Formats: sequence, structure tokens, C-alpha cells
Amino acid sequence: MAGRKVYIETYGCQMNEYDTELVYGILKEHGISKADRLEEADIILVNSCSVREGADNRAISRASQLTHLKRKRSGLVIGIIGCVAQRDKGKLLEKYRGIDLVLGPDSYRKLPEILKNMNGSPVVKTEAKRSELYDDITPFRQTSVSAYVSIMRGCDKFCSFCIVPYVRGRERSRSPQSVIEEVRKAVDSGYREIVLLGQNVNSYRYERVDFPQLLLMVSDIEGVERIRFTSPHPQDVDERLLEVMKERDNVCKHIHLPLQSGSTRILKLMNRNYTREEYLELVEKIKEYMPEGAITTDIIVGFPSEREEDFLDTVDVMDRVRFDSAFMFKYSPRPGTKAAKMEDDVPETEKDRRLRVVIEKQKEHTLYRNKQLVGKIEKILIESKGKKEEHEVRGRTDTNKLVVVKGIDCKVGEFVQVKIVDAAGVTLFGELIETS
Ligand code: SF4
Repeated sequence: MAGRKVYIETYGCQMNEYDTELVYGILKEHGISKADRLEEADIILVNSCSVREGADNRAISRASQLTHLKRKRSGLVIGIIGCVAQRDKGKLLEKYRGIDLVLGPDSYRKLPEILKNMNGSPVVKTEAKRSELYDDITPFRQTSVSAYVSIMRGCDKFCSFCIVPYVRGRERSRSPQSVIEEVRKAVDSGYREIVLLGQNVNSYRYERVDFPQLLLMVSDIEGVERIRFTSPHPQDVDERLLEVMKERDNVCKHIHLPLQSGSTRILKLMNRNYTREEYLELVEKIKEYMPEGAITTDIIVGFPSEREEDFLDTVDVMDRVRFDSAFMFKYSPRPGTKAAKMEDDVPETEKDRRLRVVIEKQKEHTLYRNKQLVGKIEKILIESKGKKEEHEVRGRTDTNKLVVVKGIDCKVGEFVQVKIVDAAGVTLFGELIETS
């Protein structure tokens, strides 16, 4: 197997990006290295996402497209891994000729053995393993300044529109020791920002250690200059978490708080376990602890039976909170979920109209929030060189806002103080104050 190269195309969330790093790490242990380009690879994997129809189709059509490469390159192995693999299993082989392996998110350890024993017959491995946490695997990191660290896998919330619990299994949390060890390794290899990942990160629990306690432990690690976490569920955000976020300088003052809908009737149908009033009260509480903090969210429009007044409730919550930014989607039924059994009765044109309305609304609010930072001094972590000009860098504030700074040559991974001089759309513009 030594000398073979693998190339992974990743779709979907940060959890999938982290899994891609895990798969590279597992194969590296068996002498299979990462190919820098698709053309160099002997093994090509598509790490698929099934959270929405669009993502789903993109990943699968890409895998099918890649099978054509086999005509020119004999022995090339093409595989589908991730959430669509777990959902559709062997059906993918029937539908797409040329796919050699289908691997679910709990079966990545098996990959070296499978590749070693490939004999031309396609392989499907999609057992759900409640114990699988990959906590002994060193991810082969693909990011430059932020290190992803998954603290748990799976989800027990069963929001009615969501496929995650069916493809990623039940919640299980890593031991604090294994998380701390991985964070230390990341810091030792130069990462200064840690992003704690979980489908439902704040329902983390390992024996008596819960998420606020784990956050304190990670915050105590020397060299960790910034901690972010995603994605929390509003139901599990409590004052202990907000206290830790407030008191610890290296915990970013940004919380991603998925709303999904502003209508209590729709929230009930979504099985979100909070009402619009409870969500607004939580936002007030967050603002009390972190007045300068940022709140971002997820919004779904066009959920089954969503009437105009339900939709206007969503717009009303957006107006009351004025989120710093939001991921906004129109509802698409996910096979196997509870909502997929509900009549998808909001016409596509109406879903499109509602999506346009919330996107325009959010643009207003993002600009409003960003303009509030003009004149302020912000500490940013340089994450890349500029796209437009040579002497330009891009970085992020503590509140996860993108800042472009012109006329400087700072290093990627460096923290600098900048004065925000302008805001346009989702981008802030800054001037260098000093190098910290
Ligand atoms: S909390 Fe809900 S939306 Fe989030 S992963 Fe779990 S089931 Fe899906």
C-alpha cells in the first residue's frame, strides 16, 4: 500500500472537514499519503453531505463524474464516504457504476484493510458504531490557522427536518483527556485557534464533565489564544456556559444560535423544544453577558404548513435580534426524517420568495452590526493573504467577522490589532495599529 496516494473532496459541514482530516490521518498511518492534486491520486474519495437536497446531489453527481477517470487510469479506486454513504448504503452501487466503495462515518478505521484487500468487487461498510469516536487518531490537518477538534459525535435531538441523527448515530462524547491531548498537539504544531466541533456541541457530557467545564479545561491550556465552538442547540445554552464565555478572554464572544423558525407553531413541528419567546429571552440573556458579542443563526423557510404569518414571525425575530449573520435555506425534505412524511405544501416559488426576503433582511442587519464596529480597535487572527492586492491580508475578529487590511505584510497565523475604518456588506476594512 506504501506509495499510494489519496485525494478527498469534502462537501458539507466542519464535521465533515474534520472527518476528512481523520481519514487522511488513518491512511497516513498505513503509508498512503495525501495527493496534492486529483490527477496524482490512486484513491479518490468524495466525503458527502445529505443535510439538504442541493448538497446531496452535488456530492453524488461529482462521484459519478469521477468514475469516468477510471477509463484512463486502471486501478483507480473511487469511493463515497460520509452522510449520503450512510443513508443510501449499497443502493449507491446499483445507481452509480464505477463506485468501488461506500463507507459510513463510523467505518473509516476499516479503510486501510479494505484498500489492501480490494479485488475488483465493490465494498459497502456502513455499520453504525455507538462507541466510535476516533479519539486515538491524529487528524492530518488541512487548515492553516484554526485547528478543528471534534469533542463528540452523533445527535439525539431528532429535529424533524434533520437527517443527522440517522446518519451519524447517537450522541457520544470524547473523554476530556483525549480532547485536551489533541488540543495540546495542535498548539504544539503552531495552531493558535481551536474550533471545538459537535453536531450538538453543548450537549457534550463525559461522566461528570459537561460542556462549560470542558471549555474551561481547554481555555486553561497554554498557547490556546482563541477558542470557537459549533454548533450549539439553544435548548442547552445555560448561564454557566455564558459565564465561561464572558470570563475567559480566549473564548470568542460569538455564539452560533440556530433559530430555524420564528414561529412557535413551526418550532413545535420541527421538534426544536423551544418557543419563539424562550429563544428571544435567551438572546437577551446572551446580550447581558456579552453586550459586544456576536450572535449568528440558521433559518429555514418554507417548512411544511408554514403560513405567511409563521414566516412573518421569523422575519420579526430577525428584526428584534438583528443577527450578525445567518445561514438561510429553503426547506427540502430529507428522506427518512419525520418531516419528510409531512406534506411539502409550500410552493417552490413561494419558498424562493421567502428566501429572498430573509436574505435581503439579513444583508441589512449584517451591515448594521458591522457598521457598529467602525472606529473600534479589534484583534484579528490573520488567516490568509489578500485575493486582490499583494500587500493585503485577511483575518477574523473575535466575533468571527472578516477584516481586510491593506498595505501590510503580516504572516498567516499572526494576531494583529487593527482599527476598523469601514464596513461594506459582510466585509470590514481595517488599518494596522500594532503587531501583538
Ligand atoms: S440538533 Fe437538530 S438540526 Fe442539529 S444536528 Fe441535531 S437533529 Fe440536526
